[in-house]
Order: sequence, then structure tokens, then C-alpha cells
Amino acid sequence: MEDIKKYDVILVGGGCAAMASAIYTCRAELKTLMLERKFVGGQVVITTDVDNYPGFPDGIQGPELTERMRKQAERFGTEIKSEEVVSLSVDGLKKTVTTDEGVYESPIVILAMGADPRKLEVPGEEELTGRGVSYCGTCDGPFYRGKDVFVVGGGSSAITEAIFITKFVNKLTVVHRRDALRAEKILQKEAFENPKMSFIWDSVVESIDGKEKVEGVTINNLKTGQKDKLPCGGVFVFVGNQPNTGFLDNLFSVDAGSHVEANHKMETSVEGIFAIGDVRKNSFRQIATAVGDGVTAAIAAQHKIADMKAKGGLL
Ligand code: NAP
Repeated sequence: MEDIKKYDVILVGGGCAAMASAIYTCRAELKTLMLERKFVGGQVVITTDVDNYPGFPDGIQGPELTERMRKQAERFGTEIKSEEVVSLSVDGLKKTVTTDEGVYESPIVILAMGADPRKLEVPGEEELTGRGVSYCGTCDGPFYRGKDVFVVGGGSSAITEAIFITKFVNKLTVVHRRDALRAEKILQKEAFENPKMSFIWDSVVESIDGKEKVEGVTINNLKTGQKDKLPCGGVFVFVGNQPNTGFLDNLFSVDAGSHVEANHKMETSVEGIFAIGDVRKNSFRQIATAVGDGVTAAIAAQHKIADMKAKGGLL
């Protein structure tokens, strides 16, 4: 029979929310496993300047902040494994987490899988991904040195990344479906003052054009109906995120694009299962709020374990 390892708390995902949880659960002497399929740190690893996380008056680079969190979580005993969770099942208080490499059990599972970039789902996008279509300016910006590029989206991610990308490119055009940005005002001000940036309003990218690599985009003005084919060397897409909740279909009424509902203690409708950070419905999706979610869930989990023990449910 397969060797099943037992923990008090299993964290699915290894972003900032999960690391905050782990620091607290380990300090409460709960045996904690963190399962992360890609890299510890989550979306913040591919963020350059983090200027709004308290305690860093001059800002901090995303990779440095997450590395500090990882070290802190490990210092208190968090066990981190690079494995992808494929299923989660519940049998009373016992939760079984199956990964691509093993099977683990715990009374508490904290869901912290974060989110992946949402796609535009227009012709050319899939075929040209990695050949001029990118979802990460921080990772790919330097490859577009001297080129003219488009950024799609008007949120804080789009504008933060666009400002970073202008360090490399010749010219950057933001295409936004409305006539006002959603991004934080301080970012908007910086963008409007950036001489390399211009804006196409009320418009969507209808297709990304090119054979072997991106050669241009077709833009549709939603107000006038006018379509324009514009040349470019790259398209960066930042139109929101999609939570990684697909494997939970058996437990919650979620599909691949849905968030998980949780109460003020971050507990879901299943006793002992918590949801934090970008997977949680109505999250504000900030590093600070993710950390707050993580700490809240960790403290609630401690209470839950004590309660389970008091009722004789746990040995
Ligand atoms: P977001 O705030 O949801 O913005 C997504 C943007 O994409 C919106 O402008 C939206 O347009 C547009 N959009 C969505 N679907 C589209 C489509 N199919 N075609 C064209 N445009 C589309 O997502 P985000 O920018 O990734 O930010 C996520 C969260 O992280 C937010 O809470 C944000 O505040 C936070 N964040 C904060 C910072 C920071 O504080 N510096 C940096 C990055 C992210 P509409 O505006 O018309 O809806």
C-alpha cells in the first residue's frame, strides 16, 4: 500500500498568502506541508517593484520579498515540496491530497493556488504565444528591445508592466476597451507622463497577426466599428487572472474559472478547508490582503484543530 504521509496542515500553493499561513501554523507547532507546482512566491516573483507593501518605504523587488518570506517560513519548519496537486478528497475530518508524486493526509487544507493570466482568446494568440505574445513583462520585456509593442488591458497589472516594458522598447501602445483606466491613480499618472506610452481607447484586439512571429494586431474600435491593422513586434496581455481551482470540481461548485467562497475566517463550506489569496471569492488581490488572508486562516486552523481534538475527532 502507498505510503501516506500525515500532517496537521497542508497548504496547496506557495505564494505570499501560503507563506504567511505557514509562518503562523509552524509557530503554533502544527506540522505543515506546502505543495507548490511551479515556484515558491507565486505571481509576486514575476513582479518588479512592489511599492505598496508596508514596511518597505523605498519599495522592494518581488523576488526579494518572496525569498524573504520563504526563508521565514522555512526557519519555523515549513516543509516545501515541488509537486502538483491533482485531487483533494474528504472523509469526515480527514482530507487526502494527491499530487503527481505522492499522497498526503491532514485535518486542515488551506487552498492558496493563486491564479494564472487570463487569455484574450482571439485568433493568433495561442499560436503566437512565446513568439511575440507574452503574459509577463518582467520576464520577457528585455527581449523586445527597440521594438514597438502593444499592451492589452487597463488594470494595475497592465499599467505596472507597461511602465516596466518601456525601459526596453521603442514605443508602447496600451489598448483598452473603455475610455478610462482601472489602474491605481498613481500608476495612471506615471503612465500618462511616460513619453514612450500612448493609448488607444474604447478598443479591443480582434486578432494577433503574423506567421512565425507577431507582426501586427487588428484593433476594433467598439464605438465607431472601425478596424485597423497596426504593425508591431510584440503583444503583452494583462486582462485579469483566472484562479487555479479546476481540481476542486468534486468538492465545490466551481469550474476552472471560479473562485472559492469562504467566510470571514477564510473557511469554505467544507469543515477544515480554507481558501486564501487570489483563489478566494471577493479577494482584493493585493500582497497585503493575501498575507492577511493567510494569517487569518492559520489562526482559524489552530482553533479548528483544538476544537476537533476537544470533540475527540482527532487522535
Ligand atoms: P484587473 O484589475 O481585473 O484588470 C483587468 C483589466 O483587463 C481591466 O482593465 C479590464 O477592463 C481588462 N479586460 C478584462 N477582460 C478583457 C478582455 N477580454 N479584453 C480586453 N480587456 C479586458 O486585473 P489586474 O490588473 O491583473 O489586477 C488584479 C488585481 O491585482 C487588482 O485588484 C489590482 O488592483 C491588483 N494589482 C495591484 C497592483 C499594484 O497595487 N501596484 C499591481 C498589479 C495588480 P475593464 O477595466 O473595462 O474591466
